[in-house]
Order: sequence, then structure tokens, then C-alpha cells
Amino acid sequence: MNPTQLYWIEPGAGAIAYARERIAGLSRDEAAPVIRELIANPPDDKRVKRCEYCGYPWRDDSLRNTKRTCSDECKTALKTLQRRRQRADKALLEGEGAPPKKRAKRHYYIWWLEYPFWLNEYEMLKRSWKYEVPYDPSKLEASQRRRI
Ligand SMILES: [Zn+2]
Repeated sequence: MNPTQLYWIEPGAGAIAYARERIAGLSRDEAAPVIRELIANPPDDKRVKRCEYCGYPWRDDSLRNTKRTCSDECKTALKTLQRRRQRADKALLEGEGAPPKKRAKRHYYIWWLEYPFWLNEYEMLKRSWKYEVPYDPSKLEASQRRRI
């Protein structure tokens, strides 16, 4: 197991397959020391690595020998762990990570002056669509006729 690991993680599928390969044909009593030795001192082989998630040795059979985890499950779990860490770090740096507070209309609309105005066009449009509804075309025609 990885010395920095604080809790027990089950070996991934790749690590299990590698260990099975190493103890093929041995009895249970013969296999135990082999497994113990394998976990403590993995063989000095470029292809044999420790899984970055579960921490058990496994053989990388990929073409470029660049895989970092023993199985897809370990890869998913590692990515989940990384995302959680990033989120936690972000929350730590940005306070509680609360969404920006919604501000009231009075913060953007200067109504108390002789000529009221908006401080922010976006805020104006965001609020005005609710009550500034264009007239129905038939109503417009009716009002035109009345004027003439
Ligand atoms: Zn693994």
C-alpha cells in the first residue's frame, strides 16, 4: 500500500490480475508470502508500477506504458478524488463557495433623482422584460384608428 494512504482501498482489477498471474499454480499457503513480498517490494520492472489510486503493484500492458492506474474503476475513482480535492481547495480559497448574492433593484436603479436611470444595462434588461411587454398588433391598429 501507498505509505501516504490513510485508509484501506481494495486492490483494483489490474492489480488482482497481476497478483493472480504471479501465484498461478501455487497453493494458498505458498502464495501468501509471495503476495506479501510482491506488495512490499514490487519487482524492478518498467512495466510493473504501483497503481496511483489503490496503491497495489500491477503490470502496464499498454503500448506506450503511460497508464497510471491498474483498472478503469481505479481511474474513475482517482479522477473523482482529484475533482473533490480541487473543489475543496477552491471552497477554502473562496470562503464558503456561496453563489454571489442577488442584489435588489435599488442597487442599480437611481429612481430618486429628477431623471431616473439605470447604472447597469444588463440589470435593466433583466428586470424590464417582465413588465415591458410589447402591445398586441391588433391593439396597436385599434389605437392608430382612434387617432386618425
Ligand atoms: Zn488500482
